[in-house]
Amino acid sequence: MEQAAINIVAQLQKAGFEAYFAGGSVRDMLMERTPGDYDIATSAKPDEIEDVLEKTIPIGKAFGVILAEHHGHHFEVATFRSDSSTSDGRRPDAILFTSAKEDAVRRDFTINGLFYDPIAKKVYDYVDGQHDIQHKLIRFIGEPHERIKEDHLRLLRGIRFKNEFGFDYHPKTEAAIRELAHLVDSLSAERVLSELTKMLLSSRRSHAVKELDDFGLLERILPEITAGKGVNQPAQYHQEGDVFTHLLKSLHDLPNDWANEALVWAILLHDIGKPRTFEQKTDRIHFDGHAEEGARMAQKIADRLKMPKVLRNKMVWLIHQHMSIGTIKEMRQAHRILLFSHPWFEDLMRLHYCDEHGSLPIDLTLYNDVMAEYHQFKDEKLLTELVPLLNGNDLMTAFHLKEGPQFKEILDEVKMLQIEGALTTKQEALDFVANLIKS
Ligand code: ATP
Ligand code: MG
Repeated sequence: MEQAAINIVAQLQKAGFEAYFAGGSVRDMLMERTPGDYDIATSAKPDEIEDVLEKTIPIGKAFGVILAEHHGHHFEVATFRSDSSTSDGRRPDAILFTSAKEDAVRRDFTINGLFYDPIAKKVYDYVDGQHDIQHKLIRFIGEPHERIKEDHLRLLRGIRFKNEFGFDYHPKTEAAIRELAHLVDSLSAERVLSELTKMLLSSRRSHAVKELDDFGLLERILPEITAGKGVNQPAQYHQEGDVFTHLLKSLHDLPNDWANEALVWAILLHDIGKPRTFEQKTDRIHFDGHAEEGARMAQKIADRLKMPKVLRNKMVWLIHQHMSIGTIKEMRQAHRILLFSHPWFEDLMRLHYCDEHGSLPIDLTLYNDVMAEYHQFKDEKLLTELVPLLNGNDLMTAFHLKEGPQFKEILDEVKMLQIEGALTTKQEALDFVANLIKS
């Protein structure tokens, strides 16, 4: 990918324009990290970019951004620009095509304001970005309050980069984020979601969430989580502290190579149902039904943040099921096999692992037992070969049933009987369901 990006820069330079790698990729290269993408900044205007490069898509031509394709890779090629300040703290109202230096100073943090010429192998640093990378500092370019007011997303971006890289804040940057935390309220759901998800996918995810809380941002974005503060838990299972502490510790103890979007969100939210289901009984504190309540609340959070359906469905399922591992040994074996064959089962076990790890004392006995049985079934190829005798369509056509919770119960029962060998043909399954409905 890097070579393809260099080729694009070379083509633009050959045509007489300035062209550099810009922003995150330069930062990553100087930090000896592999860049996720290469953005290119150039003095060429959008029409000129289109003339010079072979394959282009005008994705944001009005803002000077052209997407270029080269050897199967895509790159954003953007004309040097300065954004005129915004009226609503979201997006620039208007832009001006300018010089490299002015393009550097419109960027958010000094570490993101660097250019690199991969042909001349030269860094262009108009903002002291190299100094701040060396000293591990997150510092706004220019006056922090102004920069946050221009685009409120920078509150979250600052926290993300600081924690992702294990940097410190420049004192003025930190103070401004603290003072202007309330501006997060005006951000669109999509931008908040995307930034939070990136934070949760980065390795220092729990530090980032902790800091969102310290800055007063978390209670504005996800008050369901801060509601866990001061909510006590039964001491014999949860010496780590209150519900909030448990959520953060669970997130902290996730092995990094397990992370995926739905799982990290599920870990963060898995116990948000606890404050509402808290009950001090004679023996100890109980949270009966907290997984179901938590799943309902997570569904609302998903709607509020406009989560894509695929993310929402899996996250909500994981939260809803997270207590089921606790009773897995009492399940009938066919039920267990059914759960083992679920496409999200492995992530459910990962959530269970983090839940256990987030608790003190840590007890992984059940986790290890269940995984051993799961692998045994998997090795014996018992999990993948089941072709269901009936599906939803069969129920609708044969019995005029409507989709609903009952639907899944019937299909699951048929599957379990199939696993147990009690049903072997479609006709037997249909007869079984006919009888079930009659009774
Ligand atoms: P990563 O891709 O690892 O999240 P990045 O720095 O590449 O980090 P992008 O969102 O891809 O971040 O943006 C590319 C560059 O555009 C940034 O490095 C920064 O220079 C600039 N930029 C992005 N978003 C903003 C913003 N909200 N305000 C100012 N500059 C921004
Ligand atoms: Mg990037």
